[in-house]
Amino acid sequence: MQKDLELFQRLANKLFEAEKKNPIATPIPADELYDTLSISLDDNPVSDEFFEDTLGRLIESTPKTATKLFFNQLFGGRNPKATIGDLLAVLLNNSMYTYKVAGPQVGIEKEILHKSCDLIGYGKDADGTFAPGGSMSNFMALLMARDAYNANIPQDGVTQKLIVYTSAESHYSTPKNAAFAGIGRKQVHFIKTNDYGEMLAADLKKQIIKDIDAGNHPFFVNATAGTTVLGAFDPIEPLSKICKKYNIWLHVDGAYCGSVIFSEKYKHLVKGLEHSDSFSYNAHKMLGTPLSCSIILTKHKKHLHDSFSNDAAYLYQTDGDDYNLGKTSLQCGRRNDALKFWTLWKSVGTKGLSKMVDHQFHLADVARNYIKSNSDYTLYSYDNSISICFNYKGIPAQELCTRLYEDAALMVGFGNFNGTTFVRLVTINAGNEDSDILNFFNTLESFVAKNKNIIPTKVLAE
Ligand SMILES: *Cc1c(COP(=O)(O)O)cnc(C)c1O
Repeated sequence: MQKDLELFQRLANKLFEAEKKNPIATPIPADELYDTLSISLDDNPVSDEFFEDTLGRLIESTPKTATKLFFNQLFGGRNPKATIGDLLAVLLNNSMYTYKVAGPQVGIEKEILHKSCDLIGYGKDADGTFAPGGSMSNFMALLMARDAYNANIPQDGVTQKLIVYTSAESHYSTPKNAAFAGIGRKQVHFIKTNDYGEMLAADLKKQIIKDIDAGNHPFFVNATAGTTVLGAFDPIEPLSKICKKYNIWLHVDGAYCGSVIFSEKYKHLVKGLEHSDSFSYNAHKMLGTPLSCSIILTKHKKHLHDSFSNDAAYLYQTDGDDYNLGKTSLQCGRRNDALKFWTLWKSVGTKGLSKMVDHQFHLADVARNYIKSNSDYTLYSYDNSISICFNYKGIPAQELCTRLYEDAALMVGFGNFNGTTFVRLVTINAGNEDSDILNFFNTLESFVAKNKNIIPTKVLAE
C-alpha cells in the first residue's frame, strides 16, 4: 500500500499542476473518447509505467470542478479539511450500519444529525440519516410521509389516490420519486410560482381543496429552499399553516441552499422551518464537502424508524437500535459520508460554516452589482439568491455556454424561467474571492470580443 500511496501523491500533484495550467480541461468529444485514452479493459495486465501514465492522462482530461473557472453546477471548489476527512473515510472503509463495524464513526454521524436538528429547532423527537444525495433524501421524506399517512401501505401497497404537491420550479426528483414510491407521476400536482420563483401558498390551498372534493388524498407538500434555477425560497411559514390544517406532511428540500440554517444573516430565508416535518440539505453544495454528503432530518424519529427499519439477525448482533444506524437508512452497507463534513465542521466551527454561507451571498451581490452597472447585460435574478441569471449582448445563452465550454474558456450552464433562457452563474464556491467573480465576467467578455460572430446581427446593428 505504501508504494501505491506514493503513486497517489504523484498523481495528486499532477492534478494540482493540471488545475493551474489548464483550469478548464480541453474537452474530448464523446465519440473520440476511446481513441484518445486507454479506457478499454483487457485480458492482460498493464505495466506499472503504463498504468501511471494512463492515470495521469485521465486526470489531465477530466473536467476540473475545483478551479476558479468552474461555475457550471451547484457545487464547486475543494475544501482541504473536508477532503482529508473523505480520504480518511476511504482508508478506514467502515460501513455505517452497525456500531460494531463503525464504532466512533457512528458518534460522528449522530453528532452532525443532532446538531443540525437543534439548529432548526426540531425538538427532542427528531432524528435523521445520511442519504446518497438530495434526490434520495427527498425520496426518504416521501416514503415517511406516505407511511405516516397510511401505516398499512408498507404491507398492502398503495391503493388510494395519494397526491403530492411541489412547485413548478422544484427539482425533478419529486415526480421521479413519486414513480418509485408507487404513487405515480400523474399524482404530482405542480403549484404555480410568483415572479421570484416562489411557490404560491394560495394556489396550493386551492388545489388541495379541489383534490379533497374530488375524493383524492393529499398527503405531501415539497417546499424548496433554493430552487435549482433561480435559487428561490418557498415561503415555509404560510405553507406549514396550510399543511397543518389539512394534515399534510411538509418536507423542505434544502439540497441547494438549506445550509442557510448555519447563517445568522440568512436563516430568515427558511423562516418557519421548525414547523416542517422533514428537511434535507446537501453539505456537498453550499458547504463545499466532496460529493456526496446529503442529510435528511425529521421531527418524527418514529416515522424514520417505521419506514426504514427491518430486522436482520445476521447483521444486528450487538448494541441498541440507537447506535445501529442501519435501522434508519435507505441502504444496507453504507459509506461514511459523515466524516468529511465532521472534519470541516470541527476545524472551522459553526461560525466558520456561517462565514462560508455569508461569503457566497456576498459573491452573488458582487456579481449582481457588476451586471446592474453594465448595460450590455440583462439581469434575471433577485436578491438573496446565489444563482445569478443573466444574458449578455442578446447572445442565446445555450450557444454562449456551449461555445465557452468547447473552447475551454469557462464552465457555466444555462437555465430557463417563464420562457426566458439565460446564463446561470452560481457563486457556490466559498473559496472564490471578489476578483474571481470579476474575472468570470472578463473572461466571458473577452471570449465574445474574440468571437463576434456569436452576437446576433440585430444587436450588432444597434
Ligand atoms: C441538487 C438538488 C437536488 C438533488 O440532489 P442530488 O444530491 O444531486 O441528488 C434536489 N433538490 C434540489 C433543490 C437541488 O438543488
